[in-house]
Amino acid sequence: MADHDQADCCIAGGGPAGIMTGYLLARAGLRVIVLEKHRDFIRDFRGDTIHPATLQLLHELGILEDFLKLPHQELSRLEARFGSKTYTIAEFSWLRTAKPLIAFMPQWDFLNFLSGKASRYPGFSLWMQSSLTGLIRSGDAVTGVEVTTPEGKKTISCRLVIGADGRHSETRTLAGFEPVDSGSPIDLLWFRMPCQATDPRQSLGFYRQGKILIMIDRGDYWQCGYVIPKGGFGAIQASGLDQFIKDLLVVAPFFGDRTGALGDWTALSLLSIRIDHLKTWALNGLLCIGDAAHAMSPVGGVGINLALQDAVSVANLLWQEFHRTEGILSKTVLDRVQNRREFPARMIQRLQEMIQKGISRPPKPGRDKPPFPFRLLQAFPLLRRIPGRIIGLGFRMEHIRCPEIQPGMNRSGDPLSLP
Ligand SMILES: Cc1cc2nc3c(=O)[nH]c(=O)nc-3n(C[C@H](O)[C@H](O)[C@H](O)COP(=O)(O)OP(=O)(O)OC[C@H]3O[C@@H](n4cnc5c(N)ncnc54)[C@H](O)[C@@H]3O)c2cc1C
Repeated sequence: MADHDQADCCIAGGGPAGIMTGYLLARAGLRVIVLEKHRDFIRDFRGDTIHPATLQLLHELGILEDFLKLPHQELSRLEARFGSKTYTIAEFSWLRTAKPLIAFMPQWDFLNFLSGKASRYPGFSLWMQSSLTGLIRSGDAVTGVEVTTPEGKKTISCRLVIGADGRHSETRTLAGFEPVDSGSPIDLLWFRMPCQATDPRQSLGFYRQGKILIMIDRGDYWQCGYVIPKGGFGAIQASGLDQFIKDLLVVAPFFGDRTGALGDWTALSLLSIRIDHLKTWALNGLLCIGDAAHAMSPVGGVGINLALQDAVSVANLLWQEFHRTEGILSKTVLDRVQNRREFPARMIQRLQEMIQKGISRPPKPGRDKPPFPFRLLQAFPLLRRIPGRIIGLGFRMEHIRCPEIQPGMNRSGDPLSLP
C-alpha cells in the first residue's frame, strides 16, 4: 500500500451498508475502497436477520442460491411468547419475493459472503484494520480521507466519501453533522446461554411480568438480549448477580439448569439503544447512510435491511453520475439519496419509538396479557400480513437498477459514453 491512494469512492465502515455499497459500485465499474476498523466482522452486538427484501436483492444479483448454501435458520413468521402462550405477530409467506421469509445468519457470515462476492470485481478493495480518522477538504468540498492502517497513516483522494460507519460515526462528526436524538427508554444486556434440545423455538421475544428477553439462535448457543430501563444497569449491579439471575428466570425458566454460564458480570455486555437521525446527510463530496444517518433500535430487527436498502439506493442513484462526470459529486446530486431514503427510515424509527415506549411501561402486576394489537393479530390471522410487510420489506423497497459493467466499458463491452 502506498501512502497515498485514489478511488472513485471511499467508504468508511464495513457493515451491511458499507459492504453492499462497495459491492454495487465496484460491480458498476467503479474503483471503491471500503475501510473497516476491525480485523474481522465478528461482533456480537450486530443483528442476524436477513429480510425478504434483502433476499430479493440477493436474487436480483444472482447470488441467492450461494447464500442459501451457508448455514442459517429460516422463519416464515415471527412469534412472541407472553407468559406461556405463543402469539404470531408477522406472516411473511404471502410476500411476492424470491424467498418470503427471514433468514437468521450470524452477521459475520453474511458480511464475509457479501465481501467475497464483491472482491470478484477488480474495482473493489476492502482494507481491514483501517479507520477513517480525518477528512481532506478543498473549499466547501470533501476531496478525500485520512486513514490509520496497520502500515501507518495513509491518505485517499476520492470523488465521494461515504460515511457508513454506524451509530457512533466518525465521518458524521468530522463532517460537522449533529444527530437529532429521539431518546430511548431502554437498554439491552447482551449475553450467551448454551442451547438445549428442550428449549422453546426461536421467537421475536419472551415477555413475562414486565420482563423481556430476546433470543437469537446461533446454533450451539443462544445470543440473548435482556431489556432494562435506560441507564438502569448500575442499579441492577447494585442488587447483585443472584437477583439478576432470579429476574431472568422469571421470563426464561428453561435456563434454570445453566445459570452457571453467567458466572460474573463480565458475561454480560451493556448495549446502549439509540434512535437518532441526521437532518442533512450530505456535503459536497460526502454522504452518510445506514446507522450513520439514522441509528436504528433493534426493535423489529430491521436496521440491517434499512442499511442495505440505503446502499442500493446510493448505487441506483449515483452510478451514472460517477461515469458521466469527472469531479466531486455535489451535494445537490447526493441529496437525491436522502430524499429517497429519509422517509422509510423515519417511518420505521417512529414505529420503533412507539413500541419502545409501550414495552418500557411498568406492567400491571401479575398480568402477562399482550398489548391489544397483538391480541388483534391473534384473532384475525390475515392482519399479520401488515406487520409481515412492514418488517419484511419496509417502506419504499429498493431493487437493483445499476448494471454490472467492466471498468471503462458499457454493458456491451464498448467504451462507456453516457448522455
Ligand atoms: C443490540 C442491537 C441489536 C440489533 N439487532 C438487530 C437485528 O437483529 N436485526 C437488524 O436488522 N438490526 C439490528 N440492529 C440494528 C443494526 O445493527 C443496525 O441498524 C445496522 O447494523 C446498521 O448497519 P450499518 O452498516 O449502517 O452500520 P454498522 O453495522 O454499525 O457498521 C458500521 C461499521 O463501521 C465500522 N467503523 C466504525 N467507525 C469506523 C471508522 N472510523 N473507520 C472505519 N470503520 C469504522 C464498524 O466497525 C462497523 O463494522 C441491532 C442494533 C443493536 C444496537
